[in-house]
Amino acid sequence: MQITFQGAAGVVTGSMHILESAGKRILLDCGMFQGRRKEAEQRNRDFPFPASSIDAVVLSHAHIDHSGRLPLLVKQGFRGPIYATPATVELCAAMLRDTGHILQSDAEFVNRKHPKDAPVQPLYTVEDAAETMAYFRPVAYRTPTAIEGGLTMTSYDAGHILGSSSIVLTDGTTRLAFSGDVGRRGLPIIRDPEDLPPVDFLIMESTYGGRTHPAPPEALGQLEAVVKRTAARGGRVIVPAFAVGRTQQLVLMLHQLMNENRLPAIPIFVDSPLAIDVTAVFRNHPECFDDEINKYLQGGQDPFGFKRLTYVREAAASKQLNDRKDPFVIISASGMCEAGRILHHLRNGIGDAKNTVLLTGYQAENTLGRKLADGMKSVRIFGIPETVECEIQMLDALSGHADGEELLAWMQPMLPSLKRVFLVHGEPEQAAAMAKAIDEKFHIPAAPVAPGQSFRL
Ligand SMILES: [Zn+2]
Repeated sequence: MQITFQGAAGVVTGSMHILESAGKRILLDCGMFQGRRKEAEQRNRDFPFPASSIDAVVLSHAHIDHSGRLPLLVKQGFRGPIYATPATVELCAAMLRDTGHILQSDAEFVNRKHPKDAPVQPLYTVEDAAETMAYFRPVAYRTPTAIEGGLTMTSYDAGHILGSSSIVLTDGTTRLAFSGDVGRRGLPIIRDPEDLPPVDFLIMESTYGGRTHPAPPEALGQLEAVVKRTAARGGRVIVPAFAVGRTQQLVLMLHQLMNENRLPAIPIFVDSPLAIDVTAVFRNHPECFDDEINKYLQGGQDPFGFKRLTYVREAAASKQLNDRKDPFVIISASGMCEAGRILHHLRNGIGDAKNTVLLTGYQAENTLGRKLADGMKSVRIFGIPETVECEIQMLDALSGHADGEELLAWMQPMLPSLKRVFLVHGEPEQAAAMAKAIDEKFHIPAAPVAPGQSFRL
């Protein structure tokens, strides 16, 4: 086997690696780059190989930075199977369609603004996304499955989002594990990351390789405090959140706080058509739930719905929220404030000191979310400079990514035979900290990889 690292090498987005075995080429993930708009668009448009030269894709989970370029791959001639867990397949149907829609509206917007220039083509369309779904092949957890290149793949619950997996691939001699994104113990809704069997090589994410997160239970108290403080000021809590996973976790936590009478009586809105579709997918996959949420279901309660919570699908209803004068909580996408309805809520809200913006996940370099997290006092929204007066808070106890210590613990069961660790999906500082920790603790060679780097396994 030979592995070549293409995306998420030295950065966090654009996860994509090529595994070659017995003359076949298998892509591990096919993710989209996010960040500076122009630069990201250029990197997303071109694959460093002909799409038709790929024989199969193994997908770790549905997040767009891991799955987002699949429709482009199909559009450019890929015709092989895409292996993923059943929940991932269903999430991709909603998410890729949504991304196709965003790409189309962005292109239309640019073309309207610059009618004299040659028209911009979207990376792919809603139709391209729909066509891609025909290539998906669902593979259940812990079910060894023969795939191209004489390989067998087995996926394990990565505990990161619904349907997320870490995958072990073997040609019968050498065993390679691909971590995908590794979650954390104790996150709401989903199960904890599963142990992997011993392997020879490991490709591991390192998003928070050099950090330590507060324990997930602390998120509840943090959320309570932010909502109480903001409501007392008469402001609104604006929560940019990934439509997949984070939104459902927040809803469950608010539900829990509500049940325990720990919240002021203010309305809560989930303003994201994608989040509504994705919540429906969650309801279809109780096989991915942890015990806590099963208790809700057994007690006859709907974990994702309660009095005072309103799901907003129509754009007109979304706009009306901005005219409200009373305190409320609004959860909307996207999580890094790069696109979607959240931009309108931020534009209407960040200039008022009564309000709070509560960031709930990883904020990639050069995104609006990162600028807010870094405390910038002036940001551009829709190209217009806006002054930041509101309170900015980070809910990092809810991070969907394991921190350095948690990754070391997750590696334990693989150690007996482990020869080498390739670090991906981390900015240089975090990946370097992770490499150092692995070397010090386990004395196993570990290093961040560079784009285009190849290794024979
Ligand atoms: Zn992810």
